[in-house]
Amino acid sequence: MELLKTAIREKGKVLSDEVLKVDHFLNHQVDTSLMIEIGLEFARRFEDDKITKVLTIESSGIAPSLMAANQLAVPLIFARKKKSLTMNQNVFVSQVYSFTKRETNDITVSKDFLQEGDRVLIIDDFLANGQAAKGLIDIVKQANAEIAGFGIVIEKSFQDGRQLLLEQGYRVESLARVHALENGEVKFVDELIESK
Ligand code: 5GP
Repeated sequence: MELLKTAIREKGKVLSDEVLKVDHFLNHQVDTSLMIEIGLEFARRFEDDKITKVLTIESSGIAPSLMAANQLAVPLIFARKKKSLTMNQNVFVSQVYSFTKRETNDITVSKDFLQEGDRVLIIDDFLANGQAAKGLIDIVKQANAEIAGFGIVIEKSFQDGRQLLLEQGYRVESLARVHALENGEVKFVDELIESK
């Protein structure tokens, strides 16, 4: 998705060979026009997949998921990282190791919102080593629901997440695929192919 790649190039900051900071448009300040385009693109890619729910994880997954769910005319559910006091025991729980925070968190989803028969599109801001995806898969499985695929805003293709999901037979649609973060620059997978 060219609009997204331009935002990454112009506003993203390469913090190390492994970490890309996108606080200017995705993770802190949010470019709402870009989020709408991202949501429309996810919805377009999954429009024939009979999605009944979009599932993401708070907080950075919410903005790109909102428009996708709206366009697909289904609810958006975000897994919570902290148990809310108003949440009773009626929850699915899994664990997620955070790549950026280097800590493990419980994530929870109320059993009221995910059931057998649901076809779930899982969306997240980044795919790195697939830990968030693993936790969300676990929750969908606990609900006996089905996963239609993954919509990822920024995939870091040099880490293991994509491979992990493909090996398990999941469809992965990433809007920007980063081949490498080198010398402060972002190299995209499709540029690599084009330059050959
Ligand atoms: P994974 O679970 O796939 O290892 O990592 C994905 C999660 O970690 C995402 O939900 C995202 O919040 C965070 N993350 C992973 N890599 C990056 C990165 O390079 N930059 C930012 N901003 N977040 C990342």
